[in-house]
Amino acid sequence: MSAAKSGAIPAVMPTYRRTDLAFEKGEGVYLYGVDGRRYLDFACGLAVTAFGHAHPYLVNVLEQQAKTLWHSSNLFRIPGQERLAQRLVAATFADTVFFTNSGAEANECAIKIIRKYQSSNGRPERYRIITFEGAFHGRTLAALAATGQDKYLEGFGPKVDGFDQVAFGDLKAVEAAIGPATAGILIEPIQGEGGIRAATPQFLEGLRALCDKHDLLLAFDEVQTGLGRSGKFFCHEWLGVAPDVMSVAKALGNGFPIGACLATAKAAAGMTPGTHGSTYGGNPLGTAVANAVLDLMLADGFFDRVQEVASHLRQQLAMVVEKHGDIFEDVRGQGLLIGLKCKAANNDVAAAWRARGLLGAVAGDNVIRLLPALIIEAQHVSEAIQLIEAACQDLRKAAPAKSPAPASAKAN
Ligand SMILES: *Cc1c(COP(=O)(O)O)cnc(C)c1O
Repeated sequence: MSAAKSGAIPAVMPTYRRTDLAFEKGEGVYLYGVDGRRYLDFACGLAVTAFGHAHPYLVNVLEQQAKTLWHSSNLFRIPGQERLAQRLVAATFADTVFFTNSGAEANECAIKIIRKYQSSNGRPERYRIITFEGAFHGRTLAALAATGQDKYLEGFGPKVDGFDQVAFGDLKAVEAAIGPATAGILIEPIQGEGGIRAATPQFLEGLRALCDKHDLLLAFDEVQTGLGRSGKFFCHEWLGVAPDVMSVAKALGNGFPIGACLATAKAAAGMTPGTHGSTYGGNPLGTAVANAVLDLMLADGFFDRVQEVASHLRQQLAMVVEKHGDIFEDVRGQGLLIGLKCKAANNDVAAAWRARGLLGAVAGDNVIRLLPALIIEAQHVSEAIQLIEAACQDLRKAAPAKSPAPASAKAN
């Protein structure tokens, strides 16, 4: 813990419930703790380090760029940013990209695009966005309002106006919520923090049809699901439904802070000079790293290998759930975005895994997530399964007669 000047508060503002463990080094799929132990990293800083730690190719690109140019300004052209935008456009539904430093900012941009689309089409009264129960869109004031969970909003004054929340998966409720002020819909194709809850293809098709019928914009928050995590470049490719706007971040810089908001030409037609900006967003250092991430991710056969190892891991986990039905209930998710719904308290499961040297990430709905690097191999799957099984024994020893607690916790 960091030393405090005043006894009243730590020097690091205590907004997190932190685990008392720090890491001094990362290498591939492993993290090395200051406790002298090695951890198999199946959390990846929450779906960020898709290529593991200290990947030689990414380190080299970062070092070269660090010696060349860190930052200029969005008042000038940034060739690396233009290249990154062109590559994202070429590989997705989108025609244009705005770069940010985080997922929340990418969602702020998505919200602004949705509102601007309606106002620049002569309908400024349309500003409201439909979002979903269990969502997580980030911690800025508007992203929080989109998230809509009381426990995050409490104490921060009036909730930013303009968000209407309905039940996830309830198309009738969405239809009923559409009114004269509705501008668009924002949804995670699979809710991450909410507990790896997947929207069905039918639901997303229904949202697409409603948006087309009412001239609303459909925005996907792929901050967590995007960039290979699901086994495709973007998760919505599995579902056959394209959005008008999409926010991404987490894995884009493999740990270097960079996010992006992608949009079609039609959706972003109102985003003219002066309408949005960011000092750091898309700077030379960040975009050099993100271009290097795409070099690795868009290489031939990469997603096939992710899908292969993911289905191997899923099969193994299904066996674990079967065998340890007192601790786990089911396995859910897509690709390497995996959740184990727990019967034991997810926080206890995470602690037992950590004690054995495996890192997972808790989520809502009493789920523990497995978000390994996309470059894991069969041997890491075996290692994780062994650790999970050993931790099941530990949990049973720790609470032999106790009935399972239904407690649930969230990571963010
Ligand atoms: C993590 C996350 C965010 C917020 O990203 P930050 O970089 O923390 O602002 C937004 N949406 C989803 C789906 C996320 O998983």
